[in-house]
Amino acid sequence: MTTRFASLGRVFLAVALAYQPAMAQTKKGKAASPAAAALTPQKQDEEYTRLIKEYLQDPRFSTELVDHMPASETVPSPLKFLGRIPGKPGELTYAKDIHRYYEALAKASPRARLWKMGTTEEGRDIVVLAVADEATIKDIDRYKDMASKLGDPRKITEEQAKELIHTAKPIYWINSGIHSPETGGPECLIELAYRLIVEETPFIQNIRNNVITFITPVLEVDGRERVVDAYYYSKNHPGVSRNNLMMYWGKYVAHDDNRDGMGQYLQMTKAFTKGVLDWHPTVLHDLHESVSYLYVSTGTGPYNVTLDPIQIDEWWWLAETEIMELTKRGVPGVWTYGYYDGWVPNYLFWIAITHNSFGRFYEVQSYGPDVSANLQLGGQTISREWFRPNPPLASVKWGPRNNTNIQESALLFALSQVGKAKETYLENYYLKNKRTIEKGKEGTESPTAWIIPARQRRKADAADMVNELRRQGAEVHTANSTFKLGSVEVAAGDYVIRADQPYRTLVDMYTSIQNYPTANPRPYDDTGWTMQYMRDVKLVTTHEKSVFDAPMTLLTAEAKAAGGVDGSGGTLVIEHTGDNNLISFRVRNPSLKMMAAEDDFELSGHKFRAGALIVPNADRARLEPMLKELGLSSWAAASAPTVKSHDLAMPRIGYAHSWARTQDEGWVRAALDYYKVPYDYFGDKNLKDGDLRAKYDVIIFPHTGGNTASILAGVSAAAPIPYKKTAETPNLGGTGLDSSDDIRGGMGMEGLENLARFVREGGVLISEGSTATMMAEYDLTGRVTVEHPANLFARGSILRGKFVDLKSPIAYGYDGSDLPVYFNQDPVLNAAGGGGFGGRGGAPGGINGGEGQNIFPNVTPIHVSPLDPSSAGSPPPPTSGGRGGRSARGGGRAAPDAAGAAVDGTGGGRGGRGGGATEERARLILAFPTNAGDTLLSGTLAGGEALAGRAAAVDVPMGKGHVVMFAIRPFWRWQTQGSFMLAFNAIMNWDHLDAGKAAPAAAGTPTAGGN
Ligand SMILES: [Zn+2]
Repeated sequence: MTTRFASLGRVFLAVALAYQPAMAQTKKGKAASPAAAALTPQKQDEEYTRLIKEYLQDPRFSTELVDHMPASETVPSPLKFLGRIPGKPGELTYAKDIHRYYEALAKASPRARLWKMGTTEEGRDIVVLAVADEATIKDIDRYKDMASKLGDPRKITEEQAKELIHTAKPIYWINSGIHSPETGGPECLIELAYRLIVEETPFIQNIRNNVITFITPVLEVDGRERVVDAYYYSKNHPGVSRNNLMMYWGKYVAHDDNRDGMGQYLQMTKAFTKGVLDWHPTVLHDLHESVSYLYVSTGTGPYNVTLDPIQIDEWWWLAETEIMELTKRGVPGVWTYGYYDGWVPNYLFWIAITHNSFGRFYEVQSYGPDVSANLQLGGQTISREWFRPNPPLASVKWGPRNNTNIQESALLFALSQVGKAKETYLENYYLKNKRTIEKGKEGTESPTAWIIPARQRRKADAADMVNELRRQGAEVHTANSTFKLGSVEVAAGDYVIRADQPYRTLVDMYTSIQNYPTANPRPYDDTGWTMQYMRDVKLVTTHEKSVFDAPMTLLTAEAKAAGGVDGSGGTLVIEHTGDNNLISFRVRNPSLKMMAAEDDFELSGHKFRAGALIVPNADRARLEPMLKELGLSSWAAASAPTVKSHDLAMPRIGYAHSWARTQDEGWVRAALDYYKVPYDYFGDKNLKDGDLRAKYDVIIFPHTGGNTASILAGVSAAAPIPYKKTAETPNLGGTGLDSSDDIRGGMGMEGLENLARFVREGGVLISEGSTATMMAEYDLTGRVTVEHPANLFARGSILRGKFVDLKSPIAYGYDGSDLPVYFNQDPVLNAAGGGGFGGRGGAPGGINGGEGQNIFPNVTPIHVSPLDPSSAGSPPPPTSGGRGGRSARGGGRAAPDAAGAAVDGTGGGRGGRGGGATEERARLILAFPTNAGDTLLSGTLAGGEALAGRAAAVDVPMGKGHVVMFAIRPFWRWQTQGSFMLAFNAIMNWDHLDAGKAAPAAAGTPTAGGN
């Protein structure tokens, strides 16, 4: 058949398949007998078929599977229901209409069932439509049960598994609309659902009879409604582009909604995870749009080291199916490999992989929905490569129906293949679950258990991590009594995650230490994510098999840290452990008088870290239940401890965002909302209004992306750009989101001056990433300089932070010398004053800089240093520098001694900066190690010398106020709970940030103000 297809081409194929015998669906619940149906070809919907042809921009992007549409007397077609077919240029469909259509499908056909799987932040439904043959849909709970059994080999015998592999059906879950501006997936799925339900070719019958297709047409429902609003608005208002109006997708984040698979803050991620846990899908397929014309995921590698090798084979095996079938039909530009890596498990489709299912995705040439008369490509996109047998073309007419046809065809080939090889896929699923348990039992490649001590210092956040792992399906036990596993002592109540469970995969992936050799292709996203590091939670592993016989009980409810009050007396002292619930306690009691201890001290035999909250005349009956709920420990005493302390005053918090992009600030907002920290949210252009100090005590201005010039400029356009809810744009704005009559303008120099005045008048500005850079580049913060090291490569890694000043209120509660922090390439902040710039110029080059072929990039691991060297034998050797070492940097720099006392700006090449005499010194709180070999904890790093002693967090006094600058990203993607407190401390102690400050060491430095 293959040869005939190839030689006769698409004409023959079209003819052959159009006259397949049909088994028309006559009435709901009743199908014509196969024998009778065999005589008559299925009736086609001529109008629909004609429109497909009319809208198709280029026949090369079609196949015999999608160039026609069967008619149905009982099931409404998209044309009948929506009044148009998918792929019509210039039109987009709201999710609410797609959902209405799916309801109609489920109502009309016994081959479909629809249910709600969750609700978005803004209250919209997230749905899934199941399509299969009538009997399967009727019996869907039995198939659900079979999938669940294959997902837990502990509960079935080998014989039962064999039987189940034979009788179960793979669930192939197609998801789209996670990325709102990628508009074609949801449109294509409107049509795919109808075709799968009504078409009677043997090709479609094979899919319907052998696969249970799940379709979630739009996962980011809030963002879909916004992009449709934005599209039609821009169409009717020349001068405003759709992108101008897409600063918000969902309530919190934009593109990063597909990086929430590990952290799981967003409602859609949680809903999807619950769906995966409930249904045990065999395959999860996520639809995206970016590259030309259709990329089927496999990735360039390096592949995540914890992956079952079967998954890697499955990626390749199925990707080759789509490439071969489409290439065979002459469709250009279908390829795999050269995009994305396969490393970090944070994407939506990895929720399948971490649960032993098969996760994959497409990237399709953009839908539009406008037509590109001449889509031109060149360079790296059109060459013929081993992974791209029939490359994209230099020039084509592209448009939405091309997108629908290529995508729908590819999906059908994938579904068909899984239907034909269903037992293989089911067996693979079973084997992945079985092997992960076996690996856990063996304890050689994997630990046999992970232990999270319940009574560790940050016990509330430890419980929070346990709960997150449980929400994602991991089974967690608590120890019934004290026992020993080799050298590991387990106390009663400690959390034990046994490795003899199917979701060992997930725990292993999240908690292992990443090693990403730089000889690999440039990483697609983060390279390090070790969960206990990012959350600053103690977790130990064991390889002892005796854990499987140890006394423990499965945790069946949320883990909860012990909290409450010890002792008696009118004064309460609440320990500051760095647990994030401390800020909840603060904001829940805004008018309660409380103080913060400025030093470490002892009370009733208990040692407290600086930052402990002292509540005189405490209403214990009211506060104790709250402390218990939050898992915070406190001690009652007859009188306040004698330690020096300062009053805490609840700040009025302003929160500035850029109108160009809210992607990153969304994670900061997410964290504030979670702990219910109140703030006043406004666009950057409002900074022009002035008199900020009258309104606010603290202004948070998170990373905006871009550079200082673009931050100041903001959005520019010829016409006004309103962003608000109107009859024309009913889905813009929303609770907790900003609105404006015109978003153009940015903060300008005026806004920057106002921010500086706000600080000089006693306010605290909290900045990170690009906004910290802005403050430094405009020399507003004196003595903190931004460096641009050419050879630094640190792509989303976990690095070691060294506390330089544990007396700063920003460091309150932290008790060790080290804190793992997330850092992504820039900014590099030098708080030492002066300091040579290391030869600016050139972005880091390709990391495969060497000669010849490097097809074994993982042979040489990168140097990773253990977080706690005392537990890892001899100290690690200094890093070799990875990619071929680095030349000496220009300009001597005053490298601060990170392990020592506060660093002053002394020495350094290039003679420091002008105006030093009137500037106050920066107070370095957290810095990167001076020895580059100690820096990398998880992920990748090259050229780490450029970070030696550089600031991770620095507090810069200015007039009466402070600018707190983070080079790290303390609120990264709901994963860095361990560093949230650095910012929370700054908020709580905003008017006493100079507490504990060492006396100025050098002449010419004025005393600090603002206290
Ligand atoms: Zn995407």
